[in-house]
Amino acid sequence: MRLWAAPDHTRVVFDTSGPIEHTLFSLNDPERLVVDVPAVRTGASLQAQGKAVGLVKGIRTAQQDTGDLRIVLDLERLTKPRSFTLKPGGQHGHRLVIDLYETEASQKATVKKSVAEKTTRLRDLVIAIDAGHGGDDPGAIGPGRTREKDVVLSIAKRLAALVEQEPGMRPVLVRQGDYYIGLRKRINIARKHGADLFVSVHADGFRDRRVKGSSVFVLSRRGASSEMARWLAEKENAADLAGGVRLDDKDDLLAEVLLDLSQTATIEASVEVAGNMLGELKHLGKTHKSSVQQAGFVVLKSPDIPSVLVETAFISNPSEERKLRDRRHQEALARAMLRGIKGYFASHAPPGTHLAAREHVIEVGDTLGHLAQRYDVSLNRLKGYNGLKTDRLRVGDTLRIPPAGG
Ligand SMILES: [Zn+2]
Repeated sequence: MRLWAAPDHTRVVFDTSGPIEHTLFSLNDPERLVVDVPAVRTGASLQAQGKAVGLVKGIRTAQQDTGDLRIVLDLERLTKPRSFTLKPGGQHGHRLVIDLYETEASQKATVKKSVAEKTTRLRDLVIAIDAGHGGDDPGAIGPGRTREKDVVLSIAKRLAALVEQEPGMRPVLVRQGDYYIGLRKRINIARKHGADLFVSVHADGFRDRRVKGSSVFVLSRRGASSEMARWLAEKENAADLAGGVRLDDKDDLLAEVLLDLSQTATIEASVEVAGNMLGELKHLGKTHKSSVQQAGFVVLKSPDIPSVLVETAFISNPSEERKLRDRRHQEALARAMLRGIKGYFASHAPPGTHLAAREHVIEVGDTLGHLAQRYDVSLNRLKGYNGLKTDRLRVGDTLRIPPAGG
């Protein structure tokens, strides 16, 4: 079990030896979250954990006579829990992830505390990953009846798993199963999680089956200006949209200027991320277009979150349809997108993030050797930078990462 505290939520990750099912329910007075997992046993290490992190005050487990395991998280206050499972990827095996979000009521109660903490506490970079279509909307359909909504969800989940393994990054999977989410709602989900980047994953369809290759889109200026008109028309509701600047108390002209500045900076950032991704996708095969494309897609219309839409391949092309179904190709696509994302944030990490501060909080299983490799610095430099005399690390300690290169 691993625990992380972010400003707005606490994450609890259980490493499991295989795929598991689970149910969650909350109890009040005192606040608790109960997790029931059928037919599992705890490892010794889980019982050893009992320390308080973030919203979690303590953890208890009980092995039921039925063979089921009950885990009780004692909570600091009321939370909104969200849970999901992850398949093995990289150094991690199967995982059950529970995110405990602050509710609005509990946030208000602790607003003073969090303001004080915000200045010192670093946060993870949040990558919103949006699998296109879903539910009633299958998206494009291949000649072999492959549905876009299915393959893009697989690719999105793979990308989320990769992001989860990156130190200082956290994925938000906008669509987690086979259901439809409205396009504006997708943007709102990303905003609610404080996303630093929005990546929408799609597969193209065209009547000419010979057409193939990936392409990457960002919002066009024309799409942006029609959207701006819309925000300004409802600026009373558009608080906090222009990079944290409120619009509702500004006159029309000032609001327009602020929104335009924010949107222009956002599109510039989007073009750069998209360019990185396209460069990486070129390694997987010839892309459909050699440069970043611009269009008025609704999901790209956040004025303040850099957003890109990746058409991973043409599902209408029989050979690309086969590739889209292939797990290795899905993984390769996800890895290419991740490299594009990492390449961008290596030089554009927002202030206040672990990535910008280059700090790493030691987790169970971390070794200096691994960390040196992961952050691309020499072992001796990492030790010297932190004044470490031995190779021993303490879980929960913070390691400062020296600047890359040199
Ligand atoms: Zn699509």
